[in-house]
Amino acid sequence: MKKKAPELRKKALKAEKREQAMIEGILEGSPDAIGVVVIRLECGCRKMAAVAKDGEPASKIIMYRDMAESICEKCKQDNGAFVRVTESFIHWVDPPPSDEEQEIIYRKVLGSQPAH
Ligand SMILES: [Zn+2]
Repeated sequence: MKKKAPELRKKALKAEKREQAMIEGILEGSPDAIGVVVIRLECGCRKMAAVAKDGEPASKIIMYRDMAESICEKCKQDNGAFVRVTESFIHWVDPPPSDEEQEIIYRKVLGSQPAH
């Protein structure tokens, strides 16, 4: 199902339609945000949080599950543990910050640059 893109994962990863709707909602409620961190968990749940331009959180962390009233039992227990993260990226507002700024924020928020 997953297509392998030759470019960097950072560029390859894009918000899905339903994620996009959530992202827009988060951005609306977070005027300081320059992006939204999107974390996909292996169980299908999602974790999101707005990030400000200094890399600090600009909203609280939101967890949700598509087509479900609540997140799954696993996530309720471990709160979406890092070991179960399959993908993470930042969805930037338009226009996005410079590549340099993006890298700094990536490091601050996700600990490192996404793997190539
Ligand atoms: Zn879950």
